[in-house]
Order: sequence, then structure tokens, then C-alpha cells
Amino acid sequence: MQTAPIPTHPDPTIAELIAARPHLHMHAMDGLLLDDVPLHAIADQVGTPTWVLSAGTIRSRLRTLQDAFAARPVAMHYAMKANDHLAVLRLVRQAGAGVDVVSGGEILRARAAGIDGAHIVFAGVGKTADELALALDHGVGQFNVESAEELAMLSAVAAGRGQVARVALRINPDVDAGTHAKITTGRSDNKFGIAYTSAAALYAHAATLPGVRPIGISVHIGSQILSMLPFRAAFARVAELVRTLMADGHTVETVDCGGGLGVDYRGEAAPLPAALAGAMQHAFAGLDVRLAIEPGRWLLAPAGLLLASVVLVKHAARRFVVLDAAMNDLLRPAMYDSWHGVVPLGAADARAPVSPADLVGPVCESSDVLAQHRPMPPLMPGARVAILDTGAYGSVMSSTYNARPLAAQVMVDGGRWSVIRPRQATERLWADEAVPDWMT
Ligand SMILES: *Cc1c(COP(=O)(O)O)cnc(C)c1O
Repeated sequence: MQTAPIPTHPDPTIAELIAARPHLHMHAMDGLLLDDVPLHAIADQVGTPTWVLSAGTIRSRLRTLQDAFAARPVAMHYAMKANDHLAVLRLVRQAGAGVDVVSGGEILRARAAGIDGAHIVFAGVGKTADELALALDHGVGQFNVESAEELAMLSAVAAGRGQVARVALRINPDVDAGTHAKITTGRSDNKFGIAYTSAAALYAHAATLPGVRPIGISVHIGSQILSMLPFRAAFARVAELVRTLMADGHTVETVDCGGGLGVDYRGEAAPLPAALAGAMQHAFAGLDVRLAIEPGRWLLAPAGLLLASVVLVKHAARRFVVLDAAMNDLLRPAMYDSWHGVVPLGAADARAPVSPADLVGPVCESSDVLAQHRPMPPLMPGARVAILDTGAYGSVMSSTYNARPLAAQVMVDGGRWSVIRPRQATERLWADEAVPDWMT
């Protein structure tokens, strides 16, 4: 298995982690601030573990991404699987963006947040007939179709209802995104997309089917991509396909370039949105199509953190700092070997001399390690830490494994903050369970 890219430079220090994040500041008295809110104040009132999101950071990243495309405007559909909280979707809607969804549940969630069906793009390899019908009911504006089989199914469902679905074929460009094996999606051995070589024929076929209208091509090659090379390779292949389709007399209205833009978790040199915009403008220069993107991680990851408290410190072969947050809360380190910066909330802790520590959770799995071999101060029981850049693929991947209730969620906006989801009551874990009558 391919592991996450290891940077060649040393890991950032605690001071460097803070300095690289404009929404974080260390205050001598109040400790770590997110925007203008002391995180200790949130932990005092709400407890830990608690997810905290910065509304200002989400807004400014939405704006930065839109501004990068000033020269050639782009339709933005936020990949809501990264963080689907209604308050996040409100910010997305306020920025004039739509959403990219991957399930019927996400369609209903987006609609509950007031997002118009026309601004929803429906992706995914296994959309059921019920989900397709639901999407048609809600006027979903674009179906990213991933196979000939799905195209046939969508045609039957839509034609049976007397409707026409707008279809973009998601092609698999067979490029390696150079990211972690579990988040690469654009190689021919991944389950995603239509083989590049059969795409033109399927587009022509779609034009003859009832209930569907081919409007374009989509591509999404993976997530946390840190080099522009795979993007450029994929866009070049898409542009070539679009030219072929147009030369054959087909209408191509839109080219959806997907998501995948990586973020700087560990001091990596992540590409800027301007580089993505430049690559798209270059690849599709002279083509009269509407360009679209589906960013998820880039918009949300840096905007969130997970607050945790130290339960105890176990001195064994290594120093194990046992936190009250665990892999059921933040799954990414266990699932993707992901690296998240950890910053103590206390100003004195953040300045103290460091020595290596493993930050682990209390879940009964060896993979319940949130941060390994980190230079950390002597954190005492009760000390608090922030696990950084967890706004994307964080709270949405939580489970209640080990009967651990879902953590609270808070949103900060300037100097204000609110609980946007209270900590789940433990009794809720079994509230919907039933023991059969016949079990005496
Ligand atoms: C997950 C996903 C995205 C978003 O990817 P990020 O890496 O979070 O930007 C976009 N489009 C599709 C089809 C996806 O599955």
C-alpha cells in the first residue's frame, strides 16, 4: 500500500503550526484563540471532545477560491461529504455556490439547508433507482453518470416519469493522483468513472436515449492532491475528449473538473487555487464550455479543529498521552495514516520544552493513535489540546464505536460562538433499539 507522502523537511513546531494558520493565535492569558474566541471558554462550557469550526475561515476560503477564477468564472459545487452540517451549507449557499452530493440523504440535507435542486450535482457509482427518482423530484441540475449501466437505469427512471435528466459522463482518465491509495480515484483500476476509451461512444449513445440529455464531461481523480501534474494530465485528456465530441457534432455545455485540491496539513507545499484555475484555463482555452469544480477538503479542512483533554499520561516504552478524543471521533489517522498538527491550548504548555509523545484515544484498537511521535510538552491530566485541520472528513466520519456518543459541535464567528450540535446523550445510543418480544 502506498502511504501518505512524507515531507523532506522537519515537522512544523507548535509555534510554526500557529503562525501558518491566520485564524489561530496564542494569547498569553487566554491561551489558544480561534478567531477571537478562547478555546478554553468553549471547553469549559461544552466539555471535550468538541469539534470547532470557524465561519470566517470558511467564508474567506470560499471567496479565495472564487476570486482565483476571476479571469474565467467557474460554477462551484461544494462536495458536502467533507462536512455536511446545515450551518456549513448555509455559508456555502450565502456564497452563491451549490453542492456536489453522493446520496439521497445528502440531497435531502442540501434541500433542508435551502439549496435549490438546480444547484445540486449528483455523483456516485451506486445511485439506486429510488435515489435517482428522489433527485428528479427535487430538480437536481446535473447527474454525473459513472457507467453505461447507470446511464440505462437513469434513462428508464426519468423516461418513466416523463422527465429529462441532465447528464455529465464521469470519465476515468487513468492518471495517478499521487495521493494516498485510499483516496485516489482516477486510475483505471479504481471503481470510479467510465473508461476514457469508451466515453465518446457512450456520449453518442446517451444522445439517443429517452429521459437523458448529455450536457458534458466530469472528472475527479482523487483527494489531497499536492502536485499540479495529475490535474494537468487529467484536464488534457478531458479537453481532447471534448474536442472529439464537438467535432462529432455533439453539444458539450459543461466540463466539471471535480475536487481534490490538497491542503497543507504538515507544512507541505500545497498548490494554490490560482494554480488550479490556471491549469483549467490552459487546458480548456478556446473551448466554449462552462467550467465547474467540486472542492471539499480545501474549503473546510483548515476551518476546523477538534478539542480534546488529557485523561492520563502513561509512561511505558514510549510516552502515551491518552486523550478523551479517539478514532471514533476522528477516523482519518487510523484510516489514511493522516497527519494532523496538535497544539496545546495553554500558553505555558505551548512554550514548554518538548519530548516525543504518542497521542492516543481510549478505544480498544491499536490503530487508535491520533498523532504519533510528536514533540510535545509535559502535558498533565486535564491539559487540553487542539487537533488541527479537522474541518473536512472529521465529524462526518465519526461513529459511536465503544458506545462513545457523538462529540459536540461549535461554530465560531469573529468573537461569537454557538453550539451547532450538542453532545449526543449517551442514552440516545440505544434509544432506537428493540429487544424482540420472543426473547424472554
Ligand atoms: C469527494 C469528492 C469531491 C471532493 O474532493 P476533495 O478532495 O474533498 O476536494 C469532489 N467530487 C467528487 C465526485 C467526490 O467524490
